[in-house]
Amino acid sequence: MNMITNHLPTAELQKLDAAHHFHPFTDKAGLAAKGARVILRGEGVWLTDSEGHRIIDGMAGLWCVNIGYGRKELAQVAARQMDELPYYNTFFQTTHVPAIALAAKIAELAPGDLNHVFFASSGSEANDTNIRLVRRYWDVKGMPWRKTIIARWNGYHGSTMGGGSLGGMKPIHAHGGKIDGIEHIDQPYWWAEGGDMSEDEFGLARARQLEEKILQVGPDNVAAFIGEPVQGAGGVIIPPRTYWPEIQRICQKYGILLIADEVITGFGRTGQWFGSQTFGIKPHIMTIAKGLSSGYQPIGGSIVCDEVAEVVGGAGEFFHGYTYSGHPVAAAVALENLRIMQDEKVVEHVRDVAHPYLKERWDALAEHPLVGEAKLVGLMGSIALTPDKAKRAKFAGEEGTVGYRCRERCFANDLIMRAVGDRMIIAPPLVITPSEIDILVDRAKKSLDECYAGLK
Ligand code: PLP
Repeated sequence: MNMITNHLPTAELQKLDAAHHFHPFTDKAGLAAKGARVILRGEGVWLTDSEGHRIIDGMAGLWCVNIGYGRKELAQVAARQMDELPYYNTFFQTTHVPAIALAAKIAELAPGDLNHVFFASSGSEANDTNIRLVRRYWDVKGMPWRKTIIARWNGYHGSTMGGGSLGGMKPIHAHGGKIDGIEHIDQPYWWAEGGDMSEDEFGLARARQLEEKILQVGPDNVAAFIGEPVQGAGGVIIPPRTYWPEIQRICQKYGILLIADEVITGFGRTGQWFGSQTFGIKPHIMTIAKGLSSGYQPIGGSIVCDEVAEVVGGAGEFFHGYTYSGHPVAAAVALENLRIMQDEKVVEHVRDVAHPYLKERWDALAEHPLVGEAKLVGLMGSIALTPDKAKRAKFAGEEGTVGYRCRERCFANDLIMRAVGDRMIIAPPLVITPSEIDILVDRAKKSLDECYAGLK
C-alpha cells in the first residue's frame, strides 16, 4: 500500500476511508457511495479540504473548537508535556501538576461552590460518572432507593450506555437499549410544540412536567434531574425564560440534585463562562468537555459542589475512574486553552460580537420565506425551516428532508452548518470576527435561497 498522506488524491483517501474506517453517526453505505469530505487543515474559523476549498466552520468542529484552529501555543504545550511526563495516572493517591493546576483553574472559573473536578476524557464518560456519583451520594446519605434520574426527550448527553440513556433520542435508544432508572419528560421547544400557549406559559408547563414525573416515580426514588441549559444536538432549543427558574424551584422543593450538562454551553458559548450563569441555574454538578480544551485534546469532567464531594469523598474509596482521568497532556493543553481564553478575553468577545452584531443579522433571517424562527444565545443559533410561518407548520413527508437539502447547499457554498431535522444550527468558533460573521450569514442566506428555489 502507498504511504497514506495528505498528498494522495481525494478519491483514493475516500476509498480507503470507506473500506476501513467505521465512522460515528454515519451511514456506512452512504459513505461508500459518496465519500467523506477530507479535511486537511484549520486556521481560525477556516478549514481547508483535500480539494482546496476554504470552508467557514459554522459548527466549531462539533461545538468544541472555541479558540479556533491552529493555535501553536497548544501544540507547544502538548509537546513539552509529552517530553516531561507523557502519562501518569491519578488513581491510588497519586497526582501530577497539570491535573492539580487544571482542577484549581476550573474551580476558580466555575460559579458558586462547584469546587471539585472529577476528570474524564469526554462528555459521555463524564455523564456516566454523574450517574454513579449521584447514586453513590444517596447511598451514602442512607437513601439507596433514590436512583432515578429524570432527563428530557430530545436532550443529548453522549453516546455511551449511560450518556445515551440519559439522552432522550429514540434512535439512540433503539441501537443497544437503555439502562434502567432513567425517565424522560418533554422538552421546552415552544416553536414546534407550544401550540396556543405563550412562550412563558409553555416554559412553565414544560418545567412542571418535572414535578408530575417526580410524583409519578415517587419523590423518595428520584436522585437527580439532568438538562443542558440550551439543548444543543437537539437543535439549539433555547428554553423560554420561565423554564429554568421553575426547574430549579422544583428540584429544591424535592431535594433533588440538579446536573447541568454544560458540554456545549460551558467555556463561553453563551456569553458567560457557563450557560448556568446565563440562565440563572445553580447546579450541584456540571458536565464539561469540548470547549475545555477547545477540542485540541480529548478531556471532560464533572464539576462537583462541596456538599456532594464531601458526602461521596467522605465515605471511603469511590470505586470509579478512567485510565485517562486527568491525563497530563490533555490537562496541560486545556490549561493553556483557558489561559488564552482569559488573556484574550474570549468570553467578553462573544458578548461583543453576538449582541447586537450577529443577533441583528441572525434575526433578519426570520424574514426569509423558508424560515419560521431564528434564535440565538451567545454564539449558538438556530433557524426553523417551515412551509408556513404563521402556522409554525412542518413540511409534508419525512422530517429532515428539507434540512438535509439546505445543509447540502451550505456545503456547496463552503459553509458548515448542521441540520437537526428541519432546523439549521450554528455554533462557530468563539473567536469569529464581525467580517467572518458577515461571510457566515451571507453564505447561510444564499444556501436558504437556493434551497427555497429548489422546493418550488
Ligand atoms: N453532553 C452534551 C450536552 C453534548 O452535546 C455532548 C456531545 O455533543 C455530550 C454530552 C457527549 O460528549 P462526547 O461526545 O465528548 O462524549
